[in-house]
Order: sequence, then C-alpha cells, then structure tokens
Amino acid sequence: MKKNKSLIVANWKQNGDLKSLTKLVNNFIKLYKKVKPRCDVLLLPPTLYLNLILSRLRYYRISLRKISLGVQNISPFLNGAYTGEQSVDMIKDYKCSFSLIGHSERRHILLEDEKMIASKVKLSLQANLNTILCVGETLKEYNQKLTKKVISRQLRSALSKNTHLFKSDHSKVIIAYEPVWAIGTGKAAISEDITEVHSYIRQVLCKMLGSKSNSIRILYGGSVNDVNAKSILNLPDVDGALVGGASLNSKKFIDICSSI
Ligand code: PEP
Repeated sequence: MKKNKSLIVANWKQNGDLKSLTKLVNNFIKLYKKVKPRCDVLLLPPTLYLNLILSRLRYYRISLRKISLGVQNISPFLNGAYTGEQSVDMIKDYKCSFSLIGHSERRHILLEDEKMIASKVKLSLQANLNTILCVGETLKEYNQKLTKKVISRQLRSALSKNTHLFKSDHSKVIIAYEPVWAIGTGKAAISEDITEVHSYIRQVLCKMLGSKSNSIRILYGGSVNDVNAKSILNLPDVDGALVGGASLNSKKFIDICSSI
C-alpha cells in the first residue's frame, strides 16, 4: 500500500514563555524556509501563545497549509459555563485546523475517560478540525501483552459513534500511536513493535470503516528524536511522528522533518 503524506507534529506541551517560544518559532521558520521539508508540519503550542505563533507565521509569509496550527486539547463542551476551557470556535478564530485528543498525559494525569475523549472527538469533527486521536498502552499493559486489546478499545470507543462525521473525508482523522512508557523517557519503542502495532491499527480501522480508512494517517510518538527519526519514519504504516521533547529544539525538529 502506498504511504500517506507524512505529518510531523510538534507538541510543545506546557513549556516555554513569550520570549523562548518567540525565539523557538522564529528559528524554526528560518530553518524551514532553508530546508523546505517534504512533509506536512503541524505546531501545537500552548493555547495562550497561538496568536503569537500565528503572527510569526504571517510575518514570515508561511502558508498555514505548509505549517499548520493546532491545539493540544479542546473543551468537551460547545460553549457555556465551563471555567478554564477553550471551545472549538475560539480555537478556530486563531486559524487552528488541528486538535490533539486523548494524549496519554490527559488520560493518565488529568484523568480524562473514554467517554470524554469520544465527546471531544465528536466536537472536533463537527467543527471540521483535523482530529488527532492518541492511543497507547501503559508499561504494565505492555508487559501483560495487552497492547492490542487496549488500542482496539481506545479506537472503537473514540470513533465508532462518530464515523458519520468523517465518512466523506477519512483523512480528517489521524491516529497517533504513543506507548505511554515511551513518552518523554528517551526510550522509543523498537521497530518490530511499532510495525506490528501500526499494522494492527490499520486492520482495526479497515474493519470499522472499510478500505477508505487507508487515507487515515497513523503517526508514531514516543521519544522520537533527530537520531532515530529516519528509521522510524521509514517503517511501513508509519505516516509521520508526534514529537514532544525534541520539538523544543528548532534544529532537532527540522532534522526530524527533513528525515523523510
Ligand atoms: C508527546 O508529547 O506526545 C511525546 C511523544 O513526547 P516525547 O517526544 O518527548 O516522548
């Protein structure tokens, strides 16, 4: 099967401040203009700095089709009395075209359950956002050989009631396989495991949605860096990467983007 166009995502999490993120984005854009990577690039800054990043992209005349903007989280509600949340409409005011949903830090530290994740997927798709759903097993589940069971459950609970929302364009959904034990640990999953799990995700999607689901990109995330990116991105069914730590360094991140 022909691979989908690669997508490389920078997840800056709750890092940086006005000064450091301005420097990071300026340096990254300058490198991007020089290197012109072939992949799609997506930046997920802390929500408070969306306008800053948008203004830097505009200043350097970078099309949002080349470097897209997205959010690391959305409210599970459309609008109203939900203190501290940001709605999909607010996000779209800042030209965001992507949302990240179900990241393991939100599942396991902020205790989001599968019902909430499914609600967020629904709102994100209804708002016509490209929706990145993160799935992945904990170390305990990995050791108990439960990876496939966990991933199948996470995919089905988030997507099965929402399929009508992306039937006309399956590429609106993107899956990020992120083994929890590989995130931020410097210990990426081995190639054999990544290949097996991505192929399994492809099978589950195909069973749920038919062959049109082949246009759903499947990203790998978990300690991707400038050294291991090429070998991971070359694996079958790996259509890109979700990058945390290494995306906070403009040189490392552009090296990952140009590994394709
Ligand atoms: C992530 O934030 O999703 C992630 C994969 O982080 P890191 O690259 O630091 O492991």
